[in-house]
Amino acid sequence: MSPFTYERPTAPAEAAAAIERHPGAKFIAGGTNLLDLMKLQIEAPVHLVDVNGLGLNKIEPTTDGGLRVGALVRNTALAADERVRRDYGVLSRALLSGASGQLRNRATTAGNLLQRTRCPYFYDTDQPCNKRQPGSGCSAIGGFSRPLAVVGGSEACIATHPSDMAVAMRVLDAGIETVRPDGRTRVIPIADFHRPPGNTPHIDTTLERNELITAVTLPPPLGGTHLYRKVRDRASYAFALVSVAAVIQRDGSGRVALGGVAHKPWRDAAADAALPQGAKAATARLLADARPTHDNAFKVPLAERTLAAVLAQARSTS
Ligand SMILES: Cc1cc2nc3c(=O)[nH]c(=O)nc-3n(C[C@H](O)[C@H](O)[C@H](O)COP(=O)(O)OP(=O)(O)OC[C@H]3O[C@@H](n4cnc5c(N)ncnc54)[C@H](O)[C@@H]3O)c2cc1C
Ligand code: SF4
Repeated sequence: MSPFTYERPTAPAEAAAAIERHPGAKFIAGGTNLLDLMKLQIEAPVHLVDVNGLGLNKIEPTTDGGLRVGALVRNTALAADERVRRDYGVLSRALLSGASGQLRNRATTAGNLLQRTRCPYFYDTDQPCNKRQPGSGCSAIGGFSRPLAVVGGSEACIATHPSDMAVAMRVLDAGIETVRPDGRTRVIPIADFHRPPGNTPHIDTTLERNELITAVTLPPPLGGTHLYRKVRDRASYAFALVSVAAVIQRDGSGRVALGGVAHKPWRDAAADAALPQGAKAATARLLADARPTHDNAFKVPLAERTLAAVLAQARSTS
């Protein structure tokens, strides 16, 4: 690991200002992703700004009937919150499908959104990877691509975003609250937060370098049946090959998002509209532009079958 300096500010804008003061600095929250990347020299921040002392660990009601989840709320606390379990079951289920109990006790809401891809070449520093080293090439295209994207990729990168939580937040239309060093705040709709890779796959999100995530807001509850189904190579402690987050109403209408298939949680309004016609119609819309590789073509029918299982479960429980 490369040497770094460290500070622990106590106010959000102060934390953002600390990043601005130190080129090459990074925020650290639970450290469950960043420290691994630092040990492998994939990330080498010269200065760490610890955000654990900012008081951003509360879950509070919003005036419109939704919830505001502090950036530092741990994944375990968010999944177990009574209001989340009652009104946002898809989020609780997605969180509990991720990582392990120990990791979830440490991992934070903001850190989870910003975790980096699990593409095997991104972690193998002997191999070219445009996301790790811009311009070096993509080893996955023409290489081992079984866990990677089938839609929304580019000639430069076909990585997937590994978060389960983000897929549920996408189906709920969450907003990401941020603050900059001068105190200016904004809310980024989750649909606009994670970027497609294009020619710049090293840039994962629309967040600016010195912008701190302070909270995630959940709109008022949608009602309906909330389900999250994750298909993976092992029953636990594995990332999704395909996941489905869905909120289904009694009349068969609803919302759906896919995980494990793209650089970002994957949702399409046309697929939501097609849900009453069934899984085949909705998946055809969601994956209309799919360009799978030889290794991961199985993800397209797998997504349809997983959605079919989710819709059947929703019918049997509503
Ligand atoms: C073995 C293993 C298995 C896993 N399995 C799964 C899984 O199945 N599903 C899943 O979804 N996840 C899984 N994870 C990933 C885990 O959920 C993430 O590592 C975790 O959520 C990251 O949160 P953190 O708080 O530890 O982030 P950190 O490692 O502290 O930070 C991650 C990134 O976020 C930035 N950051 C942190 N807080 C802020 C902030 N407030 N504002 C701006 N930037 C910020 C940091 O600078 C860093 O770039 C797994 C991880 C491991 C190690
Ligand atoms: S898919 Fe993306 S992360 Fe994986 S090797 Fe290619 S550029 Fe790197």
